[in-house]
Amino acid sequence: MARNIKIAVMPGDGIGPEIVNQAIKVLNAIGKKYDTNFEYKEVLMGGAAIDATGTPLPKETVDACLESDAVLLGAVGGPKWDNLPGNQRPEAGLLGIRKELGVFANLRPAVLFPQLKSASNLKPEVLGDGLDIMIVRELIGGLYFGEKKRVTLENGEEKAWDTMVYQTSEIERIARVSFDIARKRNKKLTLVDKSNVLESSRLWKEVVYKIAEEYTDVELNQMYVDNVAMQLIRWPKQFDVMVTENTFGDIISDEASMLTGSLGNLPSASLGDGKIGLYEPIHGSAPDIAGQDIANPIGTIMSAAMMLRYSFDMDDAADEIESAISKVLDKGYRTADIMQEGMTKVGCEKIGDLIASEI
Ligand code: NAD
Repeated sequence: MARNIKIAVMPGDGIGPEIVNQAIKVLNAIGKKYDTNFEYKEVLMGGAAIDATGTPLPKETVDACLESDAVLLGAVGGPKWDNLPGNQRPEAGLLGIRKELGVFANLRPAVLFPQLKSASNLKPEVLGDGLDIMIVRELIGGLYFGEKKRVTLENGEEKAWDTMVYQTSEIERIARVSFDIARKRNKKLTLVDKSNVLESSRLWKEVVYKIAEEYTDVELNQMYVDNVAMQLIRWPKQFDVMVTENTFGDIISDEASMLTGSLGNLPSASLGDGKIGLYEPIHGSAPDIAGQDIANPIGTIMSAAMMLRYSFDMDDAADEIESAISKVLDKGYRTADIMQEGMTKVGCEKIGDLIASEI
């Protein structure tokens, strides 16, 4: 009997609906081949939800996500909603759904297709045959969530502080996610911290090395975050899977994504203790190009591949999506954002059709 998988789909705003449609096309092609029935439930989030219901994250959306096996998101936001107060903006919906799903591990791959090497700022000899790094960022703890305060001193000066705070269990759970991912890849994990200076980093190091005893097949090393910032530019191919706390991860994952040169190609996954993962491209809603059929859907299609890999253990199907994208690039098809001389420029719909037809 065919396997049934329920996916809550939040197309969102701007280019969101266009790119999500292409990912669904590709998933349907996979479903036919792998005897799997994907059942989609489309729900409102972000600006679209504000327009229809007055709130960025309606209860029906949260319920539909919690009842699904995984969540696929396009992107949210746009100038229309920019002047609303913070907690009523489209982005509040995004933070809200991450919290509702309890997704503490943000997986940000930086993958450079060899066909798109010229889009990177790095020299071809540094990039070799492409790049494939996976950064695992802790998403709901640390500096962004620790105690913060601002006071006025007696002399009239302002004083403010934020706290980078972690406890053992928070580090253990993200360490396990990272080791499991390393096991599925090249069995190499780098802990990124600042344990020469920060007490919270020293706890990270202690806990991650303790968990490493359960994963003797994975090679673990540690590197200070300032060195990592440099090494990512100097010799990025030395990295495979990296794990780090929230703030360091925020910064190095953006740095790593730039090595690939093209925002439109990159996916992400956010995972928690529960089985429901949230999958979305790393870019925003690109209101400047929305509705023109020129957006690049590859980041969203790669997010669907991550969904198959990390939520449903369908590694072969995920590999097949990635190789379908590669074949389409090999044949010279490009969306406008990754267009190169001598290639064939196609729109969002067309590249979605081409990728689906390679499955
Ligand atoms: P953006 O990522 O939407 O766009 C930056 C630039 O990249 C634009 O020129 C855009 O046209 C281009 N671009 C982005 N994705 C593309 C794609 N798939 N194909 C081709 N070109 C692409 O960032 P922004 O302009 O700073 O933000 C626009 C809106 O998106 C804002 O409201 C912002 O708050 C929101 N945003 C949402 C998310 C999210 O939903 N996760 C993330 C970032 C920004």
